[in-house]
Amino acid sequence: MDTPKIVDKILLVGDFVYLRTRTNPKNNHTHWDCRKVRAKECKARAITTTRNQELILLKGPKESKHAHPPNQEASRSSHR
Ligand SMILES: [Zn+2]
Repeated sequence: MDTPKIVDKILLVGDFVYLRTRTNPKNNHTHWDCRKVRAKECKARAITTTRNQELILLKGPKESKHAHPPNQEASRSSHR
């Protein structure tokens, strides 16, 4: 299973990059969109929460599939 991590306000799961959309303070769930969702190239979303200061992936690439292979986004952004 991929370990999620938050770096500089973006969520990384494996090689997929997600941007935060909103946080629900009631259940402490944070919702994320794949970086390509805004360009309508992908529909993958993710949900995370934290328990005991540990980041837990409630929904990720397995549940919400990407329309593109991983790593693409990260390698592209590193060229900018
Ligand atoms: Zn995607």
